[in-house]
Amino acid sequence: MARLVLAPGVPPCAIEALTPPPVRPGVPPIVEFSHVTKTYEAGTRKAFTAIHDVSFVVEDLADVGEFISIVGPSGCGKSTVLRLIAGLAPQFPQTAGGVLVNRDPVAGPGPDRGMVFQDYTSFDNRSVLDNVAFGLECRGVGRRERHEAAMEWIAKVGLNPSKDACKFPHQLSGGMRQRVAIARTLILKPRIILMDEPFGALDPVTRQNMQDLLVDLWREVEATVFFVTHDVAEAVYVGDRIYVFSKSPGTIVQQYRCMPPDRPSRVMQREPGFQESVLFIRDLLDKLEKGEKVWTPPPPG
Ligand code: ADP
Repeated sequence: MARLVLAPGVPPCAIEALTPPPVRPGVPPIVEFSHVTKTYEAGTRKAFTAIHDVSFVVEDLADVGEFISIVGPSGCGKSTVLRLIAGLAPQFPQTAGGVLVNRDPVAGPGPDRGMVFQDYTSFDNRSVLDNVAFGLECRGVGRRERHEAAMEWIAKVGLNPSKDACKFPHQLSGGMRQRVAIARTLILKPRIILMDEPFGALDPVTRQNMQDLLVDLWREVEATVFFVTHDVAEAVYVGDRIYVFSKSPGTIVQQYRCMPPDRPSRVMQREPGFQESVLFIRDLLDKLEKGEKVWTPPPPG
């Protein structure tokens, strides 16, 4: 599939179809799926295959990390993929195939992986400070040290440490609560960040601000990110690569490389090349939703 042609003078921010997936010799994988299938309630009459034969490799790029957006029709198994990486039941373990993190089979949750969900997952009875410091507390980090680190992260996610640290979740807007959730995850410095529709409940303006914040933080933490979203523009903006899943049982039907988000979301999302890319993927998703045939790359190797 050819690269999209851009209007003259428009900064190149279109997508590029990748086939076969880029696996470079000598670069170790950080996450690898090898022919992974997940059937819920396998062996019963209610057995349901959510994902089928999913294979991909994400390399451990030193000092960068890669940002992988995952899109696909509703119910195609996007959350299943994230939770298999996280090692969270009942998605974990897979029914068939291999899920490797840092070349080891996933055996359950671990400190190398952090997750941010759509629902605000803060503890209602803890202040912002104690919510952000929670993971460090679980690791036995002393009060003073964990509070210092938490104050730093509260500032990094754009909250006001002196005003917001002592607030409780019910005193915060949705955007602020997601900032707390991001700080709570990133303070633990996971090498892999798993985000499941983290901005799904936010209004459009807050959402774009959060996309910019996420990109800035990602550059700082240099982690590998898997980012599930229904919003194709968001996926194209934040992603280095996009995995497009088929209808359930989901499998990767296409992947694209995107240009880096080197301008603010609200600027980039107005550019014609960007909009063309988004429409292109939306059309593909429409076809997948309707069960129409789409071009798929040959299987790797
Ligand atoms: P997505 O994130 O793409 O919307 P999910 O991974 O949440 O999809 O779910 C994929 C499919 O698997 C859906 O049809 C869902 O109903 C089903 N599913 C998810 N979790 C379970 C479960 N614990 N038991 C049975 N079916 C499940």
